[in-house]
Amino acid sequence: MREPALVPRLRPFTSTVFAEMTALAVRHDAVNLGQGFPDTDGPAGMLETAKNSLFGGDNQYPPGPGRPELRAAISRHRQRYGASYDPDTEILVTAGATEAIAASLIALTEAGDEVLVVEPYYDSYAAAVAMAGAQRRVIGLVETENGQLELDLDALRDAITPKTRAMLLNSPHNPTGTVFSRAQLEEVARLCVEHDLIAVTDEVYEHLVFDGAEHLPLASFPGMRERTVAISSAGKTFNCTGWKIGWICSTPELVAAVKAAKQFITFVSGGPLQPAVAYALDNELEWVENLRASLQEKRDRLSAGLADAGFAVRPSAGTYFVTADVRPLGFADAAELAWTLPERAGVAAVPVKVFTDHPDEWKHLLRFAFCKRNEVIDEAVERLRKLV
Ligand SMILES: *Cc1c(COP(=O)(O)O)cnc(C)c1O
Repeated sequence: MREPALVPRLRPFTSTVFAEMTALAVRHDAVNLGQGFPDTDGPAGMLETAKNSLFGGDNQYPPGPGRPELRAAISRHRQRYGASYDPDTEILVTAGATEAIAASLIALTEAGDEVLVVEPYYDSYAAAVAMAGAQRRVIGLVETENGQLELDLDALRDAITPKTRAMLLNSPHNPTGTVFSRAQLEEVARLCVEHDLIAVTDEVYEHLVFDGAEHLPLASFPGMRERTVAISSAGKTFNCTGWKIGWICSTPELVAAVKAAKQFITFVSGGPLQPAVAYALDNELEWVENLRASLQEKRDRLSAGLADAGFAVRPSAGTYFVTADVRPLGFADAAELAWTLPERAGVAAVPVKVFTDHPDEWKHLLRFAFCKRNEVIDEAVERLRKLV
């Protein structure tokens, strides 16, 4: 056999930091604040609905675009942003947001196209762009006077070329917890319209914005409805990251395009879970509001604990994550610290630089997940306090 077997464009993506970090955490019995998954269940009514589907004979292929009651519920849910999407032609259920992103890029971009990606980026983006055969062009974040991060709009303008086909935008933003402002999104929208770009928006944390802020879908800005593939997922909203029920909302043309790719990746998935997600979207948003409030408290709890342990904690306005600068503790490279942290302190976290093309610029930050029970957060903080 040919060696190495893996095609060159996928060779950078042979392992994920989450698998490696989780393995390390298990080996050293560490508190795992590396991978962002909750350690409590979603709403009971949703779980009950799933159980009834499983035992009610609902175990065969669902329709290709997704179960009609789920598409209808997604459409109703999206109306919270004043947007109307036809459940039959403008919504597609996917195997999580991950498949939605990959299928969108595979369907809409190809060799010779450039895709704008904001750095640091969710780890699947670079791999998905590579699978599509396109090239990523990264745009950084810059620090504002009040210590927040925002998009480097000058860099964005400079990065757009005649080859630019699409922009991937994630807000609220993993790993930094940044929620991009209305003014910034307005400018992103203006540039997408001016340069005829498709926007692929990753909105999986749409409900997890803190301090009274609201989620602003890029599709709601002028000229964007017809050029945006809006992606979300049940995983982060309803504490069911293992279910992998995601969706896209877009125009009939873009949905049909993404479906062409999606139907030959998984065709369908999670049939018996789809009615439960429909139920949750229609009936459990109060539960989600409580989740949001409790995550805001957990953010404060972990941020205060990390600050107390000597980290310089950065503000987080949404998501499951807070980032912290390790330099005040006397470390220069957060990745070196992260690889030894499970053994030294019994805590696992993820170095932000693994989500970037410019590791030197991001090497001082660690990402910690706070979507954990309070006693788990407290134990992690207790252990980190003994680090120096
Ligand atoms: C968790 C996450 C995803 C993956 O969502 P799934 O529905 O589990 O595929 C996508 N994007 C971001 C930013 C995430 O944090």
